[in-house]
Amino acid sequence: MENTIFSLNNKLALITGGGSGIGFEIAKCFIEYGAKVIITGRREQALKDAVTELGSQSDYVVNDVTDLGKLPALVQHIEDTFGAIDILVNNAGVNMKKPALDVSDEDFYNIVHTNLNAVFSLTRECARRMIPRERGSIIMITSMAAYYGIDRVVAYGASKTGVEGMIKILASEFSPANVRINAIAPGFIETAMMKTAMNGDPDRIARAMRRTPMGRFGKPSEIGYAAVFLASEASSFITGTSIPVDGGNSIGF
Ligand code: NDP
Repeated sequence: MENTIFSLNNKLALITGGGSGIGFEIAKCFIEYGAKVIITGRREQALKDAVTELGSQSDYVVNDVTDLGKLPALVQHIEDTFGAIDILVNNAGVNMKKPALDVSDEDFYNIVHTNLNAVFSLTRECARRMIPRERGSIIMITSMAAYYGIDRVVAYGASKTGVEGMIKILASEFSPANVRINAIAPGFIETAMMKTAMNGDPDRIARAMRRTPMGRFGKPSEIGYAAVFLASEASSFITGTSIPVDGGNSIGF
């Protein structure tokens, strides 16, 4: 990749949940712009297949982000093996569609544990290393469910709102060390997660489409290129904020 302001040449990126969906496309876009990427996830075969497709600028580590005690060792292993992490993308996430009254304490805990607790722990471990080096870009993948009253996603919405709140506080603490932290809030993006959420229900699909002024669902690469922007020098004065990438959902429902 030629050296433009969007270049990620010589950068190392850690992308959680990079074996599929949005995380995989972020990895692809980062490589297109010159980065080396390390992807993580729980399913080794999915990671192997992804790395085969991504090529020599990629590698994987099997890791379950909910095992918080193992995250310091994950970061240590990656830095020992591949070098300093310049970019962290907290992409791994889980959703569950249920009316709030049917959501058990365990359901709620599990979603929040993956989407919020693990995001904080991994961010802290990476920031502990980025801050002394005075460089780093941390990107959270949140959701428009952080902003809007979308029905049947109480735990998911709460977890994503928590991440959106967290970036403002962390940005105020990390900014003096030139470590930036931002979010991308995707709208409806065509992935396995969205398929499960829609459950093939034509009414749900039509309703989601009506709420999207651009009249189509997003492609995972459209999140990928927004992530390139936030990871690169092109966004060097942007921190503590969230960019909706949603075909206009955020205009209002
Ligand atoms: P997918 O279900 O396609 O991918 C989710 C990824 O997260 C998988 O690679 C999965 O890998 C990984 N993951 C899940 N749990 C864990 C865990 N405990 N430890 C490590 N990795 C984990 O979903 P998307 O690509 O659609 O979602 C990616 C992100 O985008 C999520 O944070 C989601 O909330 C967000 N988002 C998606 C939207 C959409 O419309 N698709 C809209 C708004 C936000 P594995 O199973 O191997 O662990």
